[in-house]
Amino acid sequence: MPFKPVENPKCPKCEKSVYAAEERVAGGYKYHKSCFKCGLCGKMLDSTNCSEHEKELYCKNCHARKYGPKGYGFGGGAGCLSMDTGAHLGGS
Ligand SMILES: [Zn+2]
Ligand SMILES: [Zn+2]
Repeated sequence: MPFKPVENPKCPKCEKSVYAAEERVAGGYKYHKSCFKCGLCGKMLDSTNCSEHEKELYCKNCHARKYGPKGYGFGGGAGCLSMDTGAHLGGS
């Protein structure tokens, strides 16, 4: 079945359905109130002091420490670059 009925959104933390009464929204995802805490220090968050990063929630402090205020510190990501076209395999 390609089409599924619309279900309650899933909490990215525990992958269980989130109902409106307990939802907390961050970064376009819906979390349980009890899942809405910092992934590093475990502090409970609310919508004013949370930072979402790839479905993981952090408090402002931990997010700044982990990712930096400018958003760099993730290593540049050039490691997978491959420009090898295989031309050198063609013989002469
Ligand atoms: Zn949850
Ligand atoms: Zn934290």
